[in-house]
Amino acid sequence: MIQSQWTENGITLVDVTPGKLQPGWVRLKVKACGICGSDLHTYRRHQKVNISGTPGHEFVGTIIDGPAGLDDSLYAVEPFVYCGTCQMCSSGKPQLCPTKNMAGGAFPGGLSEFVDAPAVSLHQLDKNVEPLAASIAEPLAVSFRAVKLGKMSENSRVLILGGGTIGLLSGLLARDSTNNVAITVRYPHQKTVADSIGLDTVSENDLEAWVKDNDPDVIIETVGGAGSALTQAVQHCSPSGKIIVTGIFHETPPINATRLVTREIEMIGSFLYGTDFGKSVALVPKYSREIALLQTHQYDLQSVSMAFQCADDKNNQSIKVTVLP
Ligand SMILES: [Zn+2]
Ligand SMILES: [Zn+2]
Repeated sequence: MIQSQWTENGITLVDVTPGKLQPGWVRLKVKACGICGSDLHTYRRHQKVNISGTPGHEFVGTIIDGPAGLDDSLYAVEPFVYCGTCQMCSSGKPQLCPTKNMAGGAFPGGLSEFVDAPAVSLHQLDKNVEPLAASIAEPLAVSFRAVKLGKMSENSRVLILGGGTIGLLSGLLARDSTNNVAITVRYPHQKTVADSIGLDTVSENDLEAWVKDNDPDVIIETVGGAGSALTQAVQHCSPSGKIIVTGIFHETPPINATRLVTREIEMIGSFLYGTDFGKSVALVPKYSREIALLQTHQYDLQSVSMAFQCADDKNNQSIKVTVLP
């Protein structure tokens, strides 16, 4: 089978023989796999790369081998594997399991012709959902958790920092609670998508003026990296407001801790999806129009290197780049 693998400098394709399937696991033919911001962090070598590892944790596929009794269907795969018995797993927080492992990290991910995953990680899709749309389930689940932790009401004044996939999806979900949802955008194509899914947009230059007028009390940070979004979030959050942090940082951002204390701002980390992955899979049909708008580019598996190049440079007008093997 054809599988992508990290190399010293980039990513390549290799032809490998699939290993023996583990008990309780299934082998899937990958139908779609999104490229995530965290894959780009690795591509840019901002985080350690597992040479000859296979990336991809936003994938859907159909079963070609595994335990009997599973429907012939399209499945989204919850890409992290946890023990199920530790204190965190038992209290409904499997994302905090100390022995968890991710597809695309500790074991091969979905940028491949075939991929193996535990049968318990499969979530069946509605039969009308196309693989491309279905592959948004994973980032949608990340956004779902962030919005849930924001505990919004119709009076909430929400500011999303970052106009990428997680930001736009978080805005889309937040809009179901309140009409007051704005998102910061850096590129014209992000503004176009944000406008068409009903979000107010703020350019980074206008942020301070916008905050004076709107006083956001729920801020969702979706940038991470070496960006200043968390610094801005503390600067701009209303007293007694909440900041939900979803970005993965490769530099520690400076924050005004005195402001955090004297305004009693609550800062909450939001990691992966808790136990809500299945709920997000079920939401894909509801948002099919909006999902299509942010899935800007598709490549076949042979072009995986070009797919990364496209995702890496936002001047290509990419938001979500997806590989369709
Ligand atoms: Zn991801
Ligand atoms: Zn556990």
